[in-house]
Amino acid sequence: MSMTTRFVLSQSDIPTHWYNILPDLPEPVPPPLHPGTRQPIQADDMLPIFPEPLVMQEFSPERWVEIPQPVRDIYALWRPTPLLRAVRLEQALQTPAHIYYKYEGVSPAGSHKPNTAVAQAYYNKISGVQRLATETGAGQWGSSLALACRLFEMECTVYMVKVSYYQKPYRKMMMETWGATVYPSPSENTEYGRRLLAEDPDCPGSLGIAISEAIEDTVRSKNTKYSLGSVLNHVCLHQTVIGIEAQKQMEMAGEEPDVIIGCVGGGSNFAGLAFPFVRQKLTEGKRYRVVAVEPSACPSLTKGELRYDFGDTAMTTPLMWMYTLGHDFMPPRIHAGGLRYHGMAPLVSHLYHLGVIEAVAYPQTKVFEAAVQFARTEGIIPAPESAHAVRAAIDEALQAREAGEKRVILFNLSGHGMLDLTAYEAYLSGSLQDV
Ligand SMILES: *Cc1c(COP(=O)(O)O)cnc(C)c1O
Repeated sequence: MSMTTRFVLSQSDIPTHWYNILPDLPEPVPPPLHPGTRQPIQADDMLPIFPEPLVMQEFSPERWVEIPQPVRDIYALWRPTPLLRAVRLEQALQTPAHIYYKYEGVSPAGSHKPNTAVAQAYYNKISGVQRLATETGAGQWGSSLALACRLFEMECTVYMVKVSYYQKPYRKMMMETWGATVYPSPSENTEYGRRLLAEDPDCPGSLGIAISEAIEDTVRSKNTKYSLGSVLNHVCLHQTVIGIEAQKQMEMAGEEPDVIIGCVGGGSNFAGLAFPFVRQKLTEGKRYRVVAVEPSACPSLTKGELRYDFGDTAMTTPLMWMYTLGHDFMPPRIHAGGLRYHGMAPLVSHLYHLGVIEAVAYPQTKVFEAAVQFARTEGIIPAPESAHAVRAAIDEALQAREAGEKRVILFNLSGHGMLDLTAYEAYLSGSLQDV
């Protein structure tokens, strides 16, 4: 009998509840502030933008939040996702470490993002909302929301950063296949977009501009709400299905992780894998090390400042208490587009500040070296974002080899890289550079 390397759960193992970390925090997170009054934001302030159930979840003191059955039914299209032991990678590294990864790339959109997109579409649907507006950079979030809206028979409008719209057309085609309307941002569809285009018809756009357009569209339209794919508490909450499943699967494998790793853009896939383990660390005395991995070109945790800052460039969102590089920080154009965000989820920021989690940053050449080694041993071509977690996992395994110790490593492979092959081409041809 060969060794079991793939740990698979059945449909009945799809979690019934999400895990909310708020009640287990040793100290509360400083609240978001109203951008005008600078007073703690009230639920009412958020209702023009988000439906009531999501606003309630954002502040909920409830530890376990029941997952509605229609959401679990859609999760069943790809969940539970597999947990694998990377035996061939371990052999290549000649390490005594055991490396496990939770693979979220099996969703129809190819990443973890549908976990929250489906939940958000559902709560909007039951609140009478007919259309969701959002922004997207390279398109991972836009395609996930387009899929979720389709499954709940809602309309979806996506403002996609103009350079990506033209340079990375495949995710735009996915969104349109699922029935979404996609505008290159800045667009003629909003006053803000028209003003920017009048000033500069060739404006390449940015995530900050696209957010402003999606919010303007939302507040000016009937039966329309806005949707965000990371950073917020309710997004981190929805992603905890990843960690809850992984805990069961590690049990099947008969092992406990020593170190838990995830890449961080806004922090949601990391939170999703890590928070259920952080709960055991905070409440049951477990001694897990938990590591967030970011690009050194956009190092909010390792080089940013913990303070109140805006979530967008136009300074329209609430002020959030987070590690930030400044809302006007323009991240260099690295290939991991999903990690180019100036801030970090307040929950992840807070845990880092309290010393519950660690952070590390890598330049992209080191990241792609790890991604190619992973692809050549385990087969899966990782998303450039996820490859940051692969890099950190490999380095942990190499350290374990030096120390001659068995170390159990668990990381989140947040998505596949099949639509990011131009980045691999750049790496393989030697033209990829650190910025
Ligand atoms: C968007 C994205 C990320 C970064 O977002 P988080 O909210 O930090 O998880 C990471 N990996 C993949 C595959 C993504 O699409």
